[in-house]
Amino acid sequence: MDEPVRVTTKILMVELACLRRAGVRYVRAPQLGNVRARRPATAGAQRPSARSMAAAPSHPQGSELTLPKLDQPNDLVLPHLNGTGATAPSRERRPKESKGADMLQVADGWDTPPLTTNEKLAKLAELEQRVSQCTRCPELVKNRTQTVFGVGNPDAELCFVGEAPGADEDRLGEPFVGRAGQLLTRMIEAMGMNRADVYICNVLKCRPPQNRTPTITEVRNCADYLDEQLEIIKPAFICCLGSVAAQRLIPTTGAKSPSLSRLRGRVFRYKGAKVIVTYHPAYLLRTESAKKDAWQDLKLLLREMGRPIPSRRKT
Ligand code: SF4
Repeated sequence: MDEPVRVTTKILMVELACLRRAGVRYVRAPQLGNVRARRPATAGAQRPSARSMAAAPSHPQGSELTLPKLDQPNDLVLPHLNGTGATAPSRERRPKESKGADMLQVADGWDTPPLTTNEKLAKLAELEQRVSQCTRCPELVKNRTQTVFGVGNPDAELCFVGEAPGADEDRLGEPFVGRAGQLLTRMIEAMGMNRADVYICNVLKCRPPQNRTPTITEVRNCADYLDEQLEIIKPAFICCLGSVAAQRLIPTTGAKSPSLSRLRGRVFRYKGAKVIVTYHPAYLLRTESAKKDAWQDLKLLLREMGRPIPSRRKT
């Protein structure tokens, strides 16, 4: 590597490290369409894609620095940095380009250090208290009986995230306690676990009137509560129940949110957790035929967790 390239690469590494420390997870790539790229010397070498450049900003010793020609601006994952340089995200964290090129993979890692169980309980109680006072969504505040924060093991390896409380949850102050909740309990048991092993919460902490779909504004209003809740628990795995939870936790570049069918069957990343997507239990209650697909999703989750796959029981 010649000296100017070595110095430029080093400066870039330092700047990326600063961005990461500041909490930046991805950046918008500049348009480089008018930058003349020098091709690698290797015969038949492919021009690197925008993603591969983002994932591997350093280049092998002795090769020339090549710049990608980008036709469109694109959001790029900020590479994870260690003390010696950048490391590419592992293959499993990247989406299959053909199926969802508009989906971003967020760099891994929780923002804060691990907590003891007592520290988690104290922080969750403090957050729950703040949530109970929240008045950001006037329509929901007017109609709610109480806020519905979350329930379960603060040290859970797996966290289920649903959409919003329903009538039973609003009345009892606990997520997933109605018919859909009973189905979720059976799904968890079918995975060989108990409800007490996992943590369960929703994107919204207040019930939308008539169980309507949350508005974008409501999801945004409640976003930092869910982020903080997950940051405290730091689950290794998150199962999104339905499209609202999936679209909330899986960032995308496209103007249109991807459908559930494009998100199912794949493994995403939210900070330090692997994320998979399945149907909301309320949908499964209405659509018996989707249960076998949901079981496929849960099997994918079990495989990722390294747990045995029990033979399927009727739920
Ligand atoms: S849904 Fe969330 S942001 Fe909206 S009022 Fe309830 S707690 Fe606050």
